[in-house]
Amino acid sequence: MHRDTIEFQRTYTGECQCGCIVYEINEQPIMLYACHCTDCQKQSASAFGLSLWVPRKAFSLITGEPRFWQTQAESGSSKLCAFCESCGSRIYHTEDHQSPVLSIKAGLVSGARYLRPVAHLWLRSAQPWVVIDTDDCLAFEKGVDDYAELIKRWQQSEQKIGERRRNR
Ligand SMILES: [Zn+2]
Ligand SMILES: [Zn+2]
Repeated sequence: MHRDTIEFQRTYTGECQCGCIVYEINEQPIMLYACHCTDCQKQSASAFGLSLWVPRKAFSLITGEPRFWQTQAESGSSKLCAFCESCGSRIYHTEDHQSPVLSIKAGLVSGARYLRPVAHLWLRSAQPWVVIDTDDCLAFEKGVDDYAELIKRWQQSEQKIGERRRNR
């Protein structure tokens, strides 16, 4: 597929590592950020987590059913973690089964490489070799209480992509 076609796609699909769980995202995501907190390093078994916020109603399972375990977020609020019981891939986090937003673990999303994080959180626990281009995105030593700035920034970059597309 041509790069531009992927970059401007409006439906995303995701698949766990073993393929038991396949899902679709049918609306434009709310935003994407990278989180370098120690919890995200554990859940991703890597250097940082990628959180792609999408409306719950935009998420539909095509095959499989995730399992859940519950933990606490940095803020003290409860966090429900969906994962594949066969391969252990983390699918998404959410506050509870009713919460309107899912934080999709974006490494499973096909075409995710064309989604750019608008911010990096918890840089104080980032791996020392991680280098952030602060001209390009927001950078925070800790977490943020209010995600409005991040969402606004995401919408602005989406708009720019839309304009570029129209001007072609
Ligand atoms: Zn799996
Ligand atoms: Zn985190």
